[in-house]
Amino acid sequence: MNGKELQELRKKYGLTQKEIAQLLGYHTNYISRLERGDEDITERFEKLLRALLGTQRLRRHRLAKGTVSPQEWLAVKDAYHHACAYCAKTQKRLVQDHVIPLDHEGPHAVHNVVPACRSCNSKKGNRDTMKPMQPFEIERIINKSKNNR
Ligand SMILES: [Zn+2]
Repeated sequence: MNGKELQELRKKYGLTQKEIAQLLGYHTNYISRLERGDEDITERFEKLLRALLGTQRLRRHRLAKGTVSPQEWLAVKDAYHHACAYCAKTQKRLVQDHVIPLDHEGPHAVHNVVPACRSCNSKKGNRDTMKPMQPFEIERIINKSKNNR
């Protein structure tokens, strides 16, 4: 693969040099040098690139429009009483779960993110039957379990 082919491949996948660099863990300057043809494209780099272009990771990255800032994520967890939105278990380790999955073109945005425990987050196969609860329902469940102690 030469620099021109790399550029064509990158554009075909709708990626910027910066995105390729981030996804592969290289510096953006390196990608731009490769595309200008100043440097040989190593077999290792080409393999990495081809592997990346075939992955779910890239698909998710391309569909994930928008961002969730650390402050927004904290606010979401606070609203949910630091509990999983699906099973109401209070957990230290909560992951960002997309209500409309990224694979279904759900945005990576604060209005599409709820906290989930790892167990609920990984039950992707049952997604159609799993709906997040409202924060007030979660609060009710948490209070109920406290009262029963
Ligand atoms: Zn859960």
